[in-house]
Amino acid sequence: MNSEFANKIRSDFPILATQMSGKPLVYLDNGATTQKPQAMIDALVHYYTHDNANIHRGVYELSQRATDAYELARKKVAAFLGVEDAAECVFVRGTTDGINLVAASWGGNNLKAGDEVLVSGLEHHSNIVPWQLICERAGASLRVWQPNAAGELDLQQLPEILSARTKMVAIQHVSNALGTIHDVAEIVRCAKAVDATVLVDGAQWVGHYATNVAELGCDFYTFSGHKLYGPTGIGVLWGRRELLEAMPPYQGGGDMIETVEFSKSTYAPLPNLFEAGTPNIAGAIGLGAAIDYVQEVGFERISAYEDALLEYATEKMTSVPGLRILGTAARKAAVISFVLESPSIAPLDIATTLSDEGIAIRTGHHCCMPLMGELKVSGTSRVSLAMYNTFEEVDRLVEVLNALVSRRA
Ligand code: PLP
Repeated sequence: MNSEFANKIRSDFPILATQMSGKPLVYLDNGATTQKPQAMIDALVHYYTHDNANIHRGVYELSQRATDAYELARKKVAAFLGVEDAAECVFVRGTTDGINLVAASWGGNNLKAGDEVLVSGLEHHSNIVPWQLICERAGASLRVWQPNAAGELDLQQLPEILSARTKMVAIQHVSNALGTIHDVAEIVRCAKAVDATVLVDGAQWVGHYATNVAELGCDFYTFSGHKLYGPTGIGVLWGRRELLEAMPPYQGGGDMIETVEFSKSTYAPLPNLFEAGTPNIAGAIGLGAAIDYVQEVGFERISAYEDALLEYATEKMTSVPGLRILGTAARKAAVISFVLESPSIAPLDIATTLSDEGIAIRTGHHCCMPLMGELKVSGTSRVSLAMYNTFEEVDRLVEVLNALVSRRA
């Protein structure tokens, strides 16, 4: 494969023509956030230029237009996730917000002393800390399913880890630190055997592969718009209607009520119940436009291209002397975490050298401090690829890494 596919779509992303440190930008930090296509930027500008008003409250036409655009975005999200009932899709601020909502509301209602919440050892802090908070309050405990040396979760271990005490399995779809793709459908099947509820953190999956929550069989699925070529500050929590309807409101305020009296308030039906206050209207509309964009490009083509690029990058980077890749799972998404060991070069030095050459990568613990501890490193350098990255950009990265290593040898 070559870069033809990426080269065709690169012109849709104006920022990719920019420079960094006086060099053409090579953006390899897509796990942190993706760049934005012009169609998404245009949708935001169009909304603020032509349709801006508060939603759900005005009888005037402008408010109706804003409401229609916001609710249309929800329908696009539902179709994107393979969900028929759009009211099951709640707009939140992002993955972190989605998990906090479930931990506080579902967890507050369902967890009690002696119960267990199971997370994997690869989780992002946002799928650990909210559970710690609610476990502490409820007297429940957090259990950890550690990965093997390749960064994979061994499914054989699951029947021993799960028990009647397991009430929630909160698991990432893809590891942001190592790129491992987990077999979520199988994890759900095992969790259901003990009647556990399953939340999936889809932050690192949705931009790379087609998503279908019915096929996964999970109960909650959450993701961030900004990792799917959409705006920051918007994300989605999908949950099964019967679970969401049984949950108490997460926040109180306007739009989530039916009636308010000082003695008692009654609440609005889904999804408004979980969308207190004026939501990120423009963000939702932008996310809808980003979904339109990726679907037009097509996940079949996106996934096939990224898989080929990952294979190429893995092979090329392995050839850099002293470079060790962390995370060698059989199924990986477009993430390569590495350390330079001989000569030993600190991740911060690597990132600074690359930045001087216009190349953006991320270093540090990647919000996975427990995993870094297991891997016995303080941090890694992480290259995370997206559909607009080219084979030539990978060559440039490897060229700069080789030069750095030979300077330090
Ligand atoms: N989960 C994973 C796997 C992530 O990679 C991230 C962000 O990097 C998050 C959760 C948190 O996403 P956000 O900061 O958009 O809420």
